[in-house]
Formats: sequence, structure tokens, C-alpha cells
Amino acid sequence: ASEEGSATALANPNIALVKYWGKRDEALILPWTGSLSLTLDAAPTTTTVRLTDAPDDVVLLGGRPLEGTARSRVTRFIDLVRALAGRDERVTVDSHNEIPTGAGLASSASGFAALALAASTAFGLDLDRRALSRLARRGSGSASRSIFDGIAVWHAGHDDESSFAEAVPAPGLELGMVLTVLDARAKSVSSRDGMRRTVDTSPYYPAWVERTPVELEEMLAAITRADFTAVGTIAERNAMRMHATMLGAEPPVRYWGPASVELLDLVANLRGDGLECYATMDAGPNVKILCRADAVDELATRILEAQPDIGVIPARAGRGARLITSEPGGS
Ligand code: ATP
Repeated sequence: ASEEGSATALANPNIALVKYWGKRDEALILPWTGSLSLTLDAAPTTTTVRLTDAPDDVVLLGGRPLEGTARSRVTRFIDLVRALAGRDERVTVDSHNEIPTGAGLASSASGFAALALAASTAFGLDLDRRALSRLARRGSGSASRSIFDGIAVWHAGHDDESSFAEAVPAPGLELGMVLTVLDARAKSVSSRDGMRRTVDTSPYYPAWVERTPVELEEMLAAITRADFTAVGTIAERNAMRMHATMLGAEPPVRYWGPASVELLDLVANLRGDGLECYATMDAGPNVKILCRADAVDELATRILEAQPDIGVIPARAGRGARLITSEPGGS
């Protein structure tokens, strides 16, 4: 077998319709609650992992070396893959995000899904989708869902084995989404820190843990009957409730800006005008707007009419993580 292992993988970001907010085990990345998302067909991460003889791992994002915690987050993840494969070669990781990094636009989801597939393949592992989802989860919880096409549910589980995502069939439900880019800068409070502070200090967090499983069941039922109105209504309500838990933290975690609120108003107005759409927001100011797949272009146009200076990324349901090239390394 060749000693040269290398693989390139591509993964799309996913946006949660029932949110993941809060870990009950930080080492294993086990969430307090299950979540559900739409994997998009836009703005992927492409990551190449190559085994090397160099003394240290090299991690490049957008062509520049990562440093500090961003780097160690990747090298610790590679340590997990090395342990799984029973190997100890160093690697070069070369990753490119199409979406702005760390702006609440799910770069860590596409980033760690692509890394999980590329690294496991380069080290000669052939993981099934569930094992890959569990591995991706260790890099970033939401990455567990970007392994799958379209709608995915991440089961909270109670240990490393039982916490994984899987695809949710959605016949007759064609979803679209327009991501708005109001501010592409990295946020000042990472998702990780925002979650931790909410779990540790918000008196509203226990209500979130109690209520989210009910909303997840409602969402799954709405998807099964292809009820777009119910899917959108539950998604918007769930996002507002997540942000309510953060506003109750000490000090409060607030990712919204004035432009976010203007967009929330715009969504309500468009809906009043008969363009059915719903807002969701994550750990950042950028509002994502859910609609029917055939309404994406009209929605993007209407948003730009109202807010000509912002960026928009139109998207529909997309594919899960996949390999572009691979030459697995033999041990
Ligand atoms: P985002 O803010 O992009 O939606 P997130 O909400 O999950 O992601 P964080 O948990 O703060 O936010 O993750 C952002 C971090 O993820 C970045 O600062 C970077 O360290 C890491 N990251 C993003 N993309 C990649 C990538 N392609 N490869 C490795 N690490 C990445």
C-alpha cells in the first residue's frame, strides 16, 4: 500500500430549524437537546487532508495558517482520527470556506463535516454515515448534521454512541432559504462561549431543555405531513425562544443588531403580503429566511429591494458531505 494518504471532501453548511444550544458534556459534545436542520446547496467548505513526514500538523484556512485555539480545535480533532485509525502521522489540512467564517453562518458545521470525511479517508478509515456523523460532532456539534442530504435530525443521545444525526425523509416538502449577510465579521462571543454562559447562568435555560423535545416532535410531525406553514411557524418560534434564553444570561448574550430587527420586520411584512416566509437566527446578526423552494428567487429580490446594501445567499436543500478525491493511506 502507498504511504501517501490524502483526501479532499466537500460539505455544505446547514441551518437549524430546531436549534442546538447548550452542551451537557463539553468533552464529547453531547447536547442537552436534539435538533433538526436543513443542509443547503450553497457556500460549501472544501478541505484537503494530506499525511506528511513533517514534525507537526499544518492547518490552513483560506490559505493562511490557523493559530491559537482555532488551530488546536483542528489538531485535537485530528488526534481523535489518529486514535480511531491507530496511526500517528502528521497532516497538512488545507480548508476553504465559501461562507464568512465565524459569523453565525454555520462555517464550523460545513468545516468540521468536510474535515471529518477528508481526515478519516486520508487515514484509511471507511466510516459509515452514522460513525462519520458522530466523529464530525466531536469537532462541532452542528457538523454532525451536515453529513446528510436535506433535512437531518441530531438525536441528543446520552453517550458517544447514541448522539448522532440522520436524514429525515421529507416527501412533498421542497424547502428554500435565503441567508442574509448583514455583517460578515467574526462575532465577538463564539457559539461555544455563548452556549456555556447560557447554560451556566440563564434562569430560562431549564425551560428550553424541557420544551425543545416537544418542539422537535411537532417539527417532525409537520415534516411528515409536508405542512410548510407549520414547519415555518415552529422554526421561527424556536429561534426566538433560543435567543430568549441567551438574553436571560449574565451578562446577556445578544447576537442581534439593528439590521437584524429590520429584517425580522421585513419577513413579517412579506408574509402579510402573501409571500410565505419565516425567519431564523443563530449565533450572529445574520437573519436566515425560510421559504418554499420555488419562492427563493422572488424572496431574494424582495429582500434586496428593501435592503439594497446587504448580501444575500439564495439556497435550497443540498447534499451531505462527499468526497471529491481520495488516495487513502495504507499503514
Ligand atoms: P459560524 O459562526 O461560522 O456559524 P459557529 O456558529 O458554529 O460557526 P463557532 O462555534 O464560533 O461558530 O465556530 C466558528 C469557528 O469554527 C471558527 O472560528 C473556526 O475556528 C472554526 N472553523 C470554521 N471553519 C472551519 C474550517 N473550514 N476548518 C476548520 N475550522 C473551521
